[in-house]
Amino acid sequence: MTKQYDLIAVGAGSGGLSVAERAARYGAKCAVIEAGKLGGTCVNLGCVPKKVMWYGADVAHTLQDARDYGFDIEVKGFSWEILKKQRDDYVAGITRWYHTYLKDSDIDEITGYARFVDAHTLEVEGKRFRAEHIVIASGSYPVVPSIPGAEHGITSDGFFALEQLPQRIAIIGSGYIAVEIAGMLNALGADVTMLLRGEQLLRPFDAMLRECLMEEMINAGINIVTSSRIAEVVKGNDGDVALICAETGQSLGRFGQLLWAIGRAPASAGMALENAGITTDSEGHIPTDAFQNTNIPHIHAVGDVTGRAQLTPVAIAAARRLADRLFGGMPERKLDYELIPTVIFSHPPIATVGLTESEAREIHGDAVKIYQSRFTPMYHAFTRHQRKMAMKLVTVGAREKVVGCHVIGVGADEMLQGFAVAIRMGATKQELDDTIAIHPTAAEELVTMR
Ligand SMILES: Cc1cc2nc3c(=O)[nH]c(=O)nc-3n(C[C@H](O)[C@H](O)[C@H](O)COP(=O)(O)OP(=O)(O)OC[C@H]3O[C@@H](n4cnc5c(N)ncnc54)[C@H](O)[C@@H]3O)c2cc1C
Repeated sequence: MTKQYDLIAVGAGSGGLSVAERAARYGAKCAVIEAGKLGGTCVNLGCVPKKVMWYGADVAHTLQDARDYGFDIEVKGFSWEILKKQRDDYVAGITRWYHTYLKDSDIDEITGYARFVDAHTLEVEGKRFRAEHIVIASGSYPVVPSIPGAEHGITSDGFFALEQLPQRIAIIGSGYIAVEIAGMLNALGADVTMLLRGEQLLRPFDAMLRECLMEEMINAGINIVTSSRIAEVVKGNDGDVALICAETGQSLGRFGQLLWAIGRAPASAGMALENAGITTDSEGHIPTDAFQNTNIPHIHAVGDVTGRAQLTPVAIAAARRLADRLFGGMPERKLDYELIPTVIFSHPPIATVGLTESEAREIHGDAVKIYQSRFTPMYHAFTRHQRKMAMKLVTVGAREKVVGCHVIGVGADEMLQGFAVAIRMGATKQELDDTIAIHPTAAEELVTMR
C-alpha cells in the first residue's frame, strides 16, 4: 500500500531536513528520502568537515607565529591521519544525532534514491510514497570536465576522503572551494599550484578582496598559474599526472594529485521529473517563484538545486519559511534573497555582504561613495609571517546608506554577522560612526573609517 504524507522532502541535507523538521512541528506528517548520508553536503562533504580542516590550518599558522610571541617550541610533525579521524568522528556524531532527531520528531526516514511516478507519488526501491506537498532538496554535485584523463583527478568530495596529505597538488578552479582547499593544504604543508582559466580568483567578489587574497596566497607560497586551459590529463607510470595545455600542447606540470574545483551542477537528472511535469532550466536547475514553488504548484524546491545563493543557511531559511507558509498559517512567508552575508574560509578569511563597488557603481553611478582601509592587524605587528587586512564600505546617496561591506583578514569570519544585521536594517555610514568602537580590535576600523 502507498504510504500517505502531508510533506515529503527529496534529500535530507540542509534544505530537506529543515523543511520536514519545521513542518512536523506544525503537526504535518512528514518523511525525508535520502540516497546518501543524513545531513547532505554541508555536514558530510562541505561546510562542517571543511571548517574542521580550516581550523587545523589555522593552528598551523598560529604555530608559525608562536616563536614571535616568545614560545620556544619545536613542531615535530603533523598527522593528517589524526586530524582526519577526529573530523570524521565528529561528522559521524552529527549524522547519528540526525537519525535520533528524526525519530523523536516523528519524521519518517526513507533510505534510497527517489524518482517521481506522478506529481504526488515518489518511488524508492520499488516502494511508493504519496504526499500533498513534495519538496525537492536534492542539492548539487561537483563537476568534472569532459576531457581525456579527467578521471585521474578528484573533487572536493575526494578531498575529504584523502588518507594522506598530498605532497604536490594541482587545484583547478578559481571559486571559493578551490581557494579554501588551496589555503588549507598550503598551511598544512602541501606544495599547492592553482590553475585558473582567467586572471582572477573569486571573480564575482569585490576587486579589493580578489586582489588582496591573490597577494596573500602568493606570499604564502601558493603557485598561481593564470590563463591556463587544460586539454588533457595524462597519468604516468609513477602515478603522477601531467596536465596538457590546450593552446601549446605542452605539459603545465606534473603533480601527485589533481583536484577539480570548477563548479557544481544541480542534482536533478535521474529523478524522472518529467513524470510530474516539473521543468528545469538549461543547466538542470529547478526554477522556483518567490515562494519556492516550481511550475507545479504543490511541488517546491529549495537549496542548491534551485541555483540560487548556494549556501547552507540559505537552503535552511528557504525551507523553514516554506514550511511556515504551508503549515504555519503564514501565507506571505518567503525568503528575501537580498543582502546574504557569506564567508570564504580562505587564509586569511573573507567576509562579504551586499553590493561590490563595481555593482554599486553600475546601479547607482556617482551616488556611490567608498570608504576603504588596508593595514597590518595588531596580531601581525611583529610576526615574521604577516597577513594583511583590508576593508571596504560601499555607500550610496547623500545619507550614505551602506549597501556593501567587504572584509579580508584575521577574524573577518566572526566579524561580519553583526554588521550584516545593521546593513539589513538600512544602516548609514553616520550610524556606523556613531557606534562606539571596541578597542583594540580590527573590527573597530569599520566604525572609524575616513
Ligand atoms: C566543499 C564545500 C564547502 C562548502 N562550504 C560552505 C560553507 O562554508 N558555508 C555554507 O553556507 N555553504 C557551504 N557549502 C555549500 C553547502 O554545503 C550547500 O549549499 C548546502 O549543503 C545545500 O543544501 P541542500 O539541502 O540544497 O543540498 P545538500 O546538502 O547537498 O543535500 C542534498 C541531499 O539530497 C540527496 N539526494 C539527491 N538526489 C536524491 C534523490 N533523488 N533521492 C534521495 N536523495 C537524494 C543527496 O544525497 C544529498 O544528501 C559548501 C559546499 C561544498 C561542496
